[in-house]
Amino acid sequence: MNSITALSHLSDPERCPLLVVKLGSSLLVNSDGALRRDWLAGLVAELAVLHRAGQRIVIVSSGAIALGAARLGLPQRGRASLPDAQAAASVGQVELAGLYADVLGAQGLVAAQILLTLEDMEDRRRYLNASATLERLLDLGAVPVVNENDSVATEEIRFGDNDRLAARVAQASGADAVLLFSDVDGLYDRPPHQDGAVLVPQVDIIDHTVRSAAGPPQEGPGTGGMASKLAAAEIATRAGIVLAIANGTHDRPLSRVFEQNIGTMFIAQNGPGARKNWLGGRLAKAGTVRVDGGCHAALARGASVLAAGIIAVEGEFARGDFVGIADEQGAEIALGLIEYDAATCRSLMGKRQDAQADILGYAPRSAVIHRDHMVML
Ligand code: GLU
Repeated sequence: MNSITALSHLSDPERCPLLVVKLGSSLLVNSDGALRRDWLAGLVAELAVLHRAGQRIVIVSSGAIALGAARLGLPQRGRASLPDAQAAASVGQVELAGLYADVLGAQGLVAAQILLTLEDMEDRRRYLNASATLERLLDLGAVPVVNENDSVATEEIRFGDNDRLAARVAQASGADAVLLFSDVDGLYDRPPHQDGAVLVPQVDIIDHTVRSAAGPPQEGPGTGGMASKLAAAEIATRAGIVLAIANGTHDRPLSRVFEQNIGTMFIAQNGPGARKNWLGGRLAKAGTVRVDGGCHAALARGASVLAAGIIAVEGEFARGDFVGIADEQGAEIALGLIEYDAATCRSLMGKRQDAQADILGYAPRSAVIHRDHMVML
């Protein structure tokens, strides 16, 4: 149950143990292609305070194309053609990674780079892989810095904007909230340059009125704009994650959001219906694992399904499939994405974690169904 109902809650490690912060190209790279290093260092100093207070942080950062375009001397900030953007991203990503290693390192934090494609997030097997890597990095105290793998993502298989990527990364990492930094204060009730435009502090439901306030998607190969932020808000809130939009153009932008409460917050939809939707969509269940009473009680307290608690495996399924979780009597209690195929589940059933490596021949995953990929009914 997401308990974040105010922007200040985003800095509370109890309510928001894991925060995803997305930074767009225009915040990181000047119009002449120069890095805004001091601005980033200021923001990272603020993030370091949160990290020291026990909050986990994931950064989703754009900027590779804009930086690479400046280095290669490409027109239109590298967006004149897809091959330009791909080449620019290859060059710019090196610089971006170095920048994060420096500024996070200066705060005693370890930067970890992850480049993802749309397919990594849409294919459920690959989604689980990316998710496991994020979890391990966060457990180790690192700060993952994520961008789209623009050099290999072609037009049809691109996110194209890091807003939606940030929402998907929030799901995959089990985040509680996403903060999208923009060059405006948030969503306005009409285009912000129009007279009388008023900032909308909170959106409970994304309906027709909200969509028309955001306006049409941005034209051309450039990305971002309010429409893609709204699409990101839909993905996040449906998955039970809060999404906030705030102005990143100020120095130390986090304090402005947390202390002055300026931004737009999209409230998370809670309840099993919402989470079930994004987990499995309309997919049919491929099978069921039945668990013992101890495991059932642990699940109710928010734990994952471990092999030791499984007493039966029904059906045939592959890694990443959507399965039911039933109690000893066969009543369905939860749904989730399974980490192993059916045959492997049968061989691991009832086994404790330390006995699993011998059976598998490799280190076992942390759970058979991870709590982040599960919904209780
Ligand atoms: N991934 C792109 C980059 O690093 C930017 C995508 C976006 O503008 O949201 O340059």
